[in-house]
Amino acid sequence: MIYDKENIFAKILRGEIPCDKIYEDEYILSFNDINPQAKMHILIIPKDPYIDVADFLQNAKAQYQTNFWASVNIIIDNLALRDKGFQIKTHKGKDGGQEVFHFHLHLLSNS
Ligand code: AMP
Repeated sequence: MIYDKENIFAKILRGEIPCDKIYEDEYILSFNDINPQAKMHILIIPKDPYIDVADFLQNAKAQYQTNFWASVNIIIDNLALRDKGFQIKTHKGKDGGQEVFHFHLHLLSNS
């Protein structure tokens, strides 16, 4: 599978489609999910073009992966989630429930 530059998250990253931004840095963009499945439901996406988690783990440089997770850690603090309950989920492939083929984490919390 080839990365499709016209996927909706690529358009959000290019600023062609708006998003309800939560956090942004050099490595990631995070915004509210348009169809929330919990009291808080945000998406976290790397700025570099990876199709899904398997592509990211296989092809993103180790330093980029470290930076990505460091940014996730910042979001956890920014949203005061460190001492609360939350879920991090990711879908891989149509059979895994993935609809948008730019790697993303779902961060959900009802606390
Ligand atoms: P997935 O099934 O893991 O690919 O999830 C895709 C997620 O993207 C779904 O939870 C959608 O509600 C969400 N979504 C789709 N389009 C947008 C958008 N324009 N802004 C925010 N979230 C979106």
